[in-house]
Amino acid sequence: MELNRLSHQEKINLRVGLQQKYNDFKARYLSLDMTRGKPCAEQLDLSLEMLTCVNKDYFKAEDGTDCRNYGGLDGIAEAKALFSEFMEVTTKEIIIGGNSSLNMMYDMILRAMVKGVAPDSSPWGRQPAVTFLCPSPGYDRHFFICENLGIKMIPIDMDDHGPDMNQIEALVAKDESIKGIWCVPKYSNPTGCVYSDDTVERLANMPTAAKDFRIFWDNAYAYHHLTDEYLPVKNLLSACKKANNAERALMFGSTSKITFAGAGVGMLAASTANIAFIKKLMSFQSIGPDKLNQLRHVRFFKNMEGIRVHMQKHAKILKPRFDTVQHILEQDLAGLDVATWSRPKGGYFISLDTPNGCAKKIVDMAADAGVKLTPAGNTFPYNHDPRDCNIRIAPSFTPLDDIRPAMELVAICIKLAALDGC
Ligand code: PLP
Repeated sequence: MELNRLSHQEKINLRVGLQQKYNDFKARYLSLDMTRGKPCAEQLDLSLEMLTCVNKDYFKAEDGTDCRNYGGLDGIAEAKALFSEFMEVTTKEIIIGGNSSLNMMYDMILRAMVKGVAPDSSPWGRQPAVTFLCPSPGYDRHFFICENLGIKMIPIDMDDHGPDMNQIEALVAKDESIKGIWCVPKYSNPTGCVYSDDTVERLANMPTAAKDFRIFWDNAYAYHHLTDEYLPVKNLLSACKKANNAERALMFGSTSKITFAGAGVGMLAASTANIAFIKKLMSFQSIGPDKLNQLRHVRFFKNMEGIRVHMQKHAKILKPRFDTVQHILEQDLAGLDVATWSRPKGGYFISLDTPNGCAKKIVDMAADAGVKLTPAGNTFPYNHDPRDCNIRIAPSFTPLDDIRPAMELVAICIKLAALDGC
């Protein structure tokens, strides 16, 4: 029954029981961390062969390039061949980078602030204001980049098909300071939503007041399915080309959640004009990426089928963790009208909405009893969730046996907070 339909006495009785359970949890001195979407050791073990597949006898690229030495700013040929297929672009439309796609995004924006985004565009930093649209809840580190660089952020509502396109179209049409938007198009962080074809088409086609508007398309979870249903997302670069807005699309990819987190390969795909401009500016920044790591990836996976099979192994490890979270939420909270949550078919997160004004309190209560969650508010620009209701659940790193007690505790905290009216 919905909690708010209980009688006063029933609520008092329920509260006493829940408080007792909460105290029991506290007495267990749990120490569980569900703050970040880090792969667990079992997942990292899947890629151990990468540590030996490049070695003293094998360090040359197919064209004879000695990967131990400097050079090759945009990556080795075989990495471009593999990852252009991964990103669904041509080999001329990709730069294979170093160990972090987030780093490439930061660099991209920093270069835009200082140098602009095309030979004939002026630096964003010289404009009176620079604004980014931020579909929220979203990825906290995207928002931290903007905050760090003094870029104003406007939150945009999300639904199951992506960000609210009516809001976006109205804003970009009239505000020249809006230079960009953050998008995690597949198994979005944290809601797990997958952008619909209509959303992609509208993003590609919408008129923008800023001529140098860019879509930061962070497809970090492109192959991170949890079920056998592999949800597709329309190719943004192709849609932008068709709409005569080829330069609008900046697409990022990463193997951090495929091989080794923080020791994977980051990549950037874009129009050939964008790639040429970016490469020119990058040539002042770097003598070249870690080609040995690129070689390791190609040697380990061989081809896209290798990546797909590998991702099925990840799913086998992750799925029971996600299922356990769903099971406890369903068992302890369904029908009480105190929470809603996403049921993602891929990615690394579950987005949990609690009663308004309660998220911070719930996260604090859980931390006091030994379960650390992502700080409430982090999924919104400026760490400010206007309704203080969203909590990001990251089940990948926590041992499977610990997810049950962690989520039971979260459910108790939600019910206590809801009964107390926050
Ligand atoms: N983009 C998204 C949406 C992420 O969730 C993450 C990591 O959690 C990253 C990028 C980080 O990628 P990388 O390790 O390649 O910098």
